Amino acid sequence: MSVSTAATESPVCAPLPVLGRDVRVPLVTGEEVVYAALDYAASAPALQRVWDEVAAYAPYYGSVHRGAGYLSQLSTDLFEASRREVADFLGCRADDQVVFTRSTTDSLNLLAAALPVGTRAFVFETEHHAALLPWGRRADLAVTCLPAPRSHREAVETLERALAAREPHGPALVCVTGASNVTGELWPVRELAAAAHAHGARIVLDAAQLAPHHPVDTAGWDVDWVAFSGHKLYAPFGAGVLAGRADWLRDAEPYLAGGGASRSVTRRADGGVDVEWHTGAARHEAGSPNVIGAYAIAAACRALTEAGFRNLVAHEQDLIDRVRKGLAEVPGVRVLSLFDEEPGSATPSRVGVISFVVEGWNSSHFAAALSAEYGIGVRDGLFCAHPLVRTLLGADPGEPGECGAPDAPAGGRRLDAIRVSFGAGT
Ligand code: PLP
Repeated sequence: MSVSTAATESPVCAPLPVLGRDVRVPLVTGEEVVYAALDYAASAPALQRVWDEVAAYAPYYGSVHRGAGYLSQLSTDLFEASRREVADFLGCRADDQVVFTRSTTDSLNLLAAALPVGTRAFVFETEHHAALLPWGRRADLAVTCLPAPRSHREAVETLERALAAREPHGPALVCVTGASNVTGELWPVRELAAAAHAHGARIVLDAAQLAPHHPVDTAGWDVDWVAFSGHKLYAPFGAGVLAGRADWLRDAEPYLAGGGASRSVTRRADGGVDVEWHTGAARHEAGSPNVIGAYAIAAACRALTEAGFRNLVAHEQDLIDRVRKGLAEVPGVRVLSLFDEEPGSATPSRVGVISFVVEGWNSSHFAAALSAEYGIGVRDGLFCAHPLVRTLLGADPGEPGECGAPDAPAGGRRLDAIRVSFGAGT
């Protein structure tokens, strides 16, 4: 297999410094090469600046919301300041709440646990499993899974029809991704939010793949909640975020029961225990919070904001164009897209996530060869979005296919692809 890696043009702006740029890895030949990290959509490398800021804070680390000592006070201040910085980064409304979680998956599960009784969730089958699956786990919730749309317009119309037809007309939540983790395509978030609200529903934005590449405007787009993960935003310290409307979160049972979430606990005469829970973000942050993770996310938000999304988007668009042009020149390569290109659209329509299949190649063998022969790290499989990948490969979204299996399942065909993903650090 031969792959041309020669750059044809210089990038629009310099990449942001990240860790791991000089990591050398062995090839099958025994030779060593500098590793090419092209799996940002799974986990992006840490920004050097995030790493440095965390290291500078680490000696001052202390327990949050719990200690009278100087370092505890400092850590509490930094933790709360991080919350405010994240709210600014996401363009939140003044009364929105930022809850620190472990990840996008955790954030969306938290929201699912907090939905009012009887809520119906609406999701497209194209979602990442973290956005597709949390809503079906409570017996009192219902889920409507919508078929993959082929254009932005079809997405909005499909949602509007489904919301209008819901019976009974009770509470509803729409969950939609901002950018696909398979195709990198942007979704019409503002329009979907308007459709949701016009039909009395709320909407949560899965910004796991959007936030690292594109500014998020929670208030401007009128989305009710936003979820993202620190490790995809160059801050791999085990934290994530759920930000948005406070009311449903305040009215719900705490996500976890324990210290930090409870304001007052008393033993009753009958041997039971009475608890008064906090009403703010702490209600859903029981246990000692991940202050380093929260601080790292805030540092990443600062770094991306200061670099300027205009520059970052231009840099990434240049990379996207070069990768797509390069792939188009390789015989047998098919890049996967869900949407028909929006004609005449002047704004970028995708982020740096590109999936493709190569005729005659098993995707996992191809990805393994890229690693072993070239030191290029990509991802292969169905990317935790099984129905979407099946649809993109022309299969029925319900057709079984194994994820990460080395060979086609008996009697079946392989349903998987190769994904390259990159961003501000590339
Ligand atoms: N949503 C999207 C679009 C993703 O790409 C991912 C991860 O790949 C997730 C949600 C889940 O993120 P995490 O694994 O950090 O919880």
